[in-house]
Amino acid sequence: MKLVLIGAPAAGKGTQARKLIEKYHLAYISTGDMLREEVAKGTELGLKVKSIMASGSLVSDDLIIAIVKERIKADDCKNGFILDGFPRTVVQAEKLDELIGSVDTTIYIKCPDDVLLKRITARQTCPKCGATYNKISVPSKVAGICDVCGTKLVQRKDDTIEAGKARLATFHQQSEPLVAYYKAQGKLFEVDGLMGLDNITKAIFARLGE
Ligand code: AMP
Repeated sequence: MKLVLIGAPAAGKGTQARKLIEKYHLAYISTGDMLREEVAKGTELGLKVKSIMASGSLVSDDLIIAIVKERIKADDCKNGFILDGFPRTVVQAEKLDELIGSVDTTIYIKCPDDVLLKRITARQTCPKCGATYNKISVPSKVAGICDVCGTKLVQRKDDTIEAGKARLATFHQQSEPLVAYYKAQGKLFEVDGLMGLDNITKAIFARLGE
C-alpha cells in the first residue's frame, strides 16, 4: 500500500501515520524528519535548508524529490510506505507519480487555521524518536518527557506563531492544490481533522480496509 498524508502543519498527520504504520506495517517517510536530521547533524544539506525551514518556506522541489527518490528504494519500502509531508507541491506529486506509478490513497486531514495555529504553538516533539505531543490535546504522560523513549521534549524552531503563520500560508498557496490533483485521480480521502484522534483513525481504517 502506498499512502500519502496531506494536511496543514499540526493537522495530525504524524499522529495518524503512527497508527497506520502499526496496523499496515508500512515504512514511514517524513521528509520534515529527514531534513531535521540533516540539520541536527550539521551536514551540507542541513546547512543549506536550515534557514528555509525555520522561516516556514519550502525547500526546492528538486532537492526534496532527489531525497524521496533515494528513500523509496530502500528495502523497508517494498511492502509499501506512507509519505508524510511529501508531496507538498503539484510538481512533487507529478514526479512521485512518475516514480511509483500512482499512490493508492491520499488522506487529507482538513482543519481550520485558527485551531492549527493554537496546536502549533502547543506542540512538543521528541528530538530522539520523533514522537509528537501537544500540551493541550495530546500531552505526554510526564510533562515534558517523551512517553516512548524518555527523552526531554523540545519545541520545534518552526513551531512559533510567526513561523506557524508562514507555514499555514505556504500550505494554502503551494500544497492545497494537491487536494484537487488527487481528487481528479479519484485517490482523495478527506477527513475532518476536528473529530478527535480516535475517530479520525477509525475513519481512515474504515476507508483502507483490513
Ligand atoms: P514538516 O515537518 O513536514 O512540517 O516539514 C518541516 C519543513 O521541512 C517544512 O516547513 C519545509 O521547509 C521542509 N519540507 C518538508 N517536506 C518538504 C517538501 N515535501 N517540500 C519542500 N519542503 C519540505
